Amino acid sequence: MFARFVFAVIGIALCSWTYADYLEVYSNAYVYQESNTASQQLDYIRPDDFTDPVYLRLVQSSLENGYYRVMLRDRPGSGWIYKSRARLRAGDLPATIGPNTHDEEILPDIEAAPSSMPWPVNFDASEITNPGLEIYIFSLGQADSMLVIGPPPERRTLLVDAGEELTGPKDKYLHVRNRIEQITGSLSVDYLVISHFHTDHIGSPGRGPCTTRGNPSGIFALLADQPNPLTVGTLIDRGDAGLGFTPGRSTPHCGVLNHIDDWTSRGVVTQRITPSFGTADIDLGTGIIIEVVATDGRVGVNDAGAMAHAENSTPNLFSDSEQASENDYSVALEISLGDFELFTGGDLTGSAPGDEGHTHLRRQFGNRAQIYTNVESHMIREWRRSGRESDVEVYRVNHHGSAHSSNNDLLHALEPEVAIYSTGGDYGHPADTTVERLDYADQFITTRVSDDTWPNGFPNVYGDIVGEIHISVAADGSRYQLNDWVYPSYSDAAEAQ
Ligand SMILES: [Zn+2]
Repeated sequence: MFARFVFAVIGIALCSWTYADYLEVYSNAYVYQESNTASQQLDYIRPDDFTDPVYLRLVQSSLENGYYRVMLRDRPGSGWIYKSRARLRAGDLPATIGPNTHDEEILPDIEAAPSSMPWPVNFDASEITNPGLEIYIFSLGQADSMLVIGPPPERRTLLVDAGEELTGPKDKYLHVRNRIEQITGSLSVDYLVISHFHTDHIGSPGRGPCTTRGNPSGIFALLADQPNPLTVGTLIDRGDAGLGFTPGRSTPHCGVLNHIDDWTSRGVVTQRITPSFGTADIDLGTGIIIEVVATDGRVGVNDAGAMAHAENSTPNLFSDSEQASENDYSVALEISLGDFELFTGGDLTGSAPGDEGHTHLRRQFGNRAQIYTNVESHMIREWRRSGRESDVEVYRVNHHGSAHSSNNDLLHALEPEVAIYSTGGDYGHPADTTVERLDYADQFITTRVSDDTWPNGFPNVYGDIVGEIHISVAADGSRYQLNDWVYPSYSDAAEAQ
């Protein structure tokens, strides 16, 4: 989309020597004046691709605050680059790069912003200390969970999903519980949104009505745990709608609905509602807007839904043996504060590449087939019809980066600066096709990538595997910090240009 603008500030030349080792930089990266993101940006490095790194000379080999000190490329002086953006290499620079002098350094890589949206001239890149909105995306392997916190003093909380991996000890809920307690100081949340009823988003009910095996995990364990259950104000889940497209209702679905009744009767959930379109369901405090933009394959009050749309074009598409995927029912939210906007849509499907005429994709799993309905394009059609300004800052990538989501219709509408994959690296996630469709964004991964899809690891040029993600949004929404990096938010007017 738009390249980051480089502040051309002349550094002061104090360094006349370099350390023998050097850095290879594969990923887009800033060089800062000090070893922190709050200091002046001296250079922006943008390698052409991961086979063609930019080399930097080291001033010292030891880290300071996680930063290396390097020689500037285009002028005398030194700066600091964060360690995850570079690889330390032993020995002198490769001979092809030339001798260690400033004059023969590779290239001054300062480029003009290609779009009409430059990095704001007066952008304040200092650390955000009094956020009006905070978002945590926990690192849970393939499981998914996100905590959203509104402004002080109330700091109201919204938990979106708390799932488990399909294999292993199924104890991710313990991590979610610990993090909620550490971050908020309590074991209650004001809202819990369940995006859809898959195990990696809710865990398993364990033995009980409709289910015959296993122990409770995920949300079921969080809410059942004694003596310290998580308590919930308002639970919002997709309910029991759309069964015409999943005629043979799945066992997990039945188990979930039975447990929800139990939660409300025991009082660990105060009330349970199904999502309504618009912003009325969730109130995290002044300035925070949380809008439901999709649920049950529907994208508006009067919408019959993407599944009905698909069945209109292909009669009898859905049947007992070929049901709509549970993913298609995902609840999608847009969370905003001022100019900051984040889209999160569970495992919403797009049957990529997803042009407008492409209503669904039939997927064969063993001797059963399933339909992935193109809900993404269905939603974007509605957004275009209503003239909605759809550009966001952050996109929590649908379905862990699956190739069957994040289609071109959706990405052209969202045009995020930052993309976040919540993935443990199973199932080919994130798909290389999805990563390439998002290559204009800075991409971050919570846990790990698929060994099959990325046998040589995830190329740094695309992004970083960073573990838990913490986003702090300034109280006025004008900028936000993701772990160590501070970004500007763009106004709808600027984004519409
Ligand atoms: Zn999932």
